[in-house]
Amino acid sequence: MAAKTDIETVKQTFSDYLRKMKYRSTPERSRVLDRIAEYDRHFSADELYMHMNNLGDRVSRATVYSTLDLLTQCNILMKHRFQGESAHFELSSRMPNHDHLICTECGRIVEFREDQIKKIRNQVCDTLGFRPRTHSLQIFAVCHDPSTCEYNQAE
Ligand SMILES: [Zn+2]
Ligand SMILES: [Zn+2]
Repeated sequence: MAAKTDIETVKQTFSDYLRKMKYRSTPERSRVLDRIAEYDRHFSADELYMHMNNLGDRVSRATVYSTLDLLTQCNILMKHRFQGESAHFELSSRMPNHDHLICTECGRIVEFREDQIKKIRNQVCDTLGFRPRTHSLQIFAVCHDPSTCEYNQAE
């Protein structure tokens, strides 16, 4: 399933980025990254903050938010905005090149990998004279099976 994230490599990438941008490398920022590595799914900034708070980490909400921004800027994290929800994050290395299918009724998010999409992305970049880096595709659909759709179950 998910690719095992090499946290030491990720940490090195982050500290290199902080140094390059002349940001301070603090134990709090490092702790945020450790906690993120424990997730094998999407999470929101508030979820992460609550999680850290519950575990007794002494990190302010502002630090969590600003660290998430920095991690997104250096591509360690992918930031998604699923239908009307607050932003969700996940490690880029967690499951490279996957996309998301979202049920517009129950909000269920299914992750999938389809090589054709990457091919098309590369073709489009080629045609328009760009070098592809990443992409983010969201397909909005409705659960086919009513028994798995929470919205339909409520009916
Ligand atoms: Zn995902
Ligand atoms: Zn559904």
